[in-house]
Amino acid sequence: MSVQCIERDIIQQETTVTVSTLSDCSTQLTSTQTTYDTQYSQDKSDLSFNLAQCNNTDTSDEEELYDEDCVDITDNHNVTDRVNAEYCDNKYLVFDSQLQKLFKHCTSTDCNSAVSIIKRQLIGTMLIVKYTCANGHTNTWRSQPYMRHMPAGHLLLSAAILLSGSTYGQINKLCTILNLPIFSKSVFYRIQNTYLNPSVNEYWTMHQTAVLSVLSDTAVKLCGDARSDSPGFSAKYTSYTLMDLDTSLIVDQQLVCVTEPDVNSSVAMEKVAMSRSLEFLHSSGLKIHTLATDRHTGVRSFIKENYPEINHQFDVWHIEKNITKKLHKKALKREASELMPWIRHIANHLYWSAQTCNGDGELLREKWMSCIHHIANVHAWNGEKLVHCEHGEVDDNTCWLEIDSPAHLALKQVVLDKKLLKDIVQLSDFCHTGALEVYHSMLLKYAPKRLHFNYAGMQTRLQLAAIDHNYNVDRKVAKDKEGNPAVKQAYTKAKKHWILRNVYEGKQYTYIAEIMNNIIKRRLDLTIKMDDTSCNISLPVMKETIAVIEKPSMEEAKAKKYSRINN
Ligand SMILES: [Zn+2]
Ligand SMILES: [Zn+2]
Repeated sequence: MSVQCIERDIIQQETTVTVSTLSDCSTQLTSTQTTYDTQYSQDKSDLSFNLAQCNNTDTSDEEELYDEDCVDITDNHNVTDRVNAEYCDNKYLVFDSQLQKLFKHCTSTDCNSAVSIIKRQLIGTMLIVKYTCANGHTNTWRSQPYMRHMPAGHLLLSAAILLSGSTYGQINKLCTILNLPIFSKSVFYRIQNTYLNPSVNEYWTMHQTAVLSVLSDTAVKLCGDARSDSPGFSAKYTSYTLMDLDTSLIVDQQLVCVTEPDVNSSVAMEKVAMSRSLEFLHSSGLKIHTLATDRHTGVRSFIKENYPEINHQFDVWHIEKNITKKLHKKALKREASELMPWIRHIANHLYWSAQTCNGDGELLREKWMSCIHHIANVHAWNGEKLVHCEHGEVDDNTCWLEIDSPAHLALKQVVLDKKLLKDIVQLSDFCHTGALEVYHSMLLKYAPKRLHFNYAGMQTRLQLAAIDHNYNVDRKVAKDKEGNPAVKQAYTKAKKHWILRNVYEGKQYTYIAEIMNNIIKRRLDLTIKMDDTSCNISLPVMKETIAVIEKPSMEEAKAKKYSRINN
């Protein structure tokens, strides 16, 4: 950042502060004896917005306002203005020592006498200060406005946590370090269930409907891939994402939990999730011409049996990765080590074969197999559709493999593998699911694998990731100082070399303001009550636990551990 930029930033910040609120604060620095309510300094254990707590303490107006059944809302007729005012309002990080300077003199009309008693109360993120002057006037100041009796900060901070892809745990830790009071975890989840999940879900549904209607004109080419929260057999959730290959827009996403009754193993989740997605798209009238997937067990036969009209393709990258891995393993053996320098060329040959076969699976297969001749310095052979290499003169210094040498035999074993030769025709449309891989790595921001989320929370995070992706799908490559496309160097661990990557323009999050407004409107809707289960998003029927055997009693478990230690 240039110096000018930093300066401009500082000037802007100063200007904002001056014009907005300092006039309200009328700081007066005369000293006054004050007594502080002990609740703030001593009892930080429950700072939450808790109805029971509010009903049990003294009977001031403050507590009455927490009554969820109270429906009196001033300015209810002007929801839009309230929404914008409360969301767009600046919030500040105010220090206690600075705040104390404000409550020195009475603010009642024409009084201005010294404040004698100050009582302070903390409800989650909201500070309430009640102060009484020598003339007996009592005034109340709150650090936040209410949104239907809920401190606005509770709703807005909860929404900000979720919409930014963060978690309550992370923000709570940040607040603890800063000594910044925050509401409890249970308040966050109640707000998430009642206001956040339904609003995000509604927004995603609206967005998805729009995407599907744009794509409904012609039969689409899709790619699909699964993502599990942990590898292999221990996964609790698997999500399946279907993306349009032409536009890279996500068209559907399904979440499957291992505790759902029609899932009998964590490996089966991918197929269940994919079939739900295809069923949904089918029912919404989307015509699917092509579907590209990896070679997951059961997926091929499932599509063949249930959607025979779909042109099922495999992702070139997945197959290339698999071939490269096998070749590498063979080339590590000393007798076949001459194969090693060829591996990168063989991978490229697969891409070339798929790209230049013009949709002809048989031609693709022959092109692919021709590498066993070429690498042995044989450039013509007997074939059906292809009888010679398509390159020009070859370099005499190339380290060709000797025909039927151990390295050449190893190559043939991989290239001519029966399953591979059967599958390879399904690369004829040269489909990539690379954009999905990128999406799945971005999804980690919203749903890190090491964290546990409940089903509804996981679903919401998937929807937020998909919206984030779809809204930023058309990002352009950024320009460098000279106006050329910006690039950066990156090292690829898989291929062990440096490549140039495009640098894209920053992401746009215009949808966040819209979802935020929907969340606030939902809170201001008198018909929706906190914890009302009818507004929870619908969940699939689940078994109670992912465990397949009954939980032993604590005594039994302890006894077992104890005996193991002794043995
Ligand atoms: Zn007064
Ligand atoms: Zn050749």
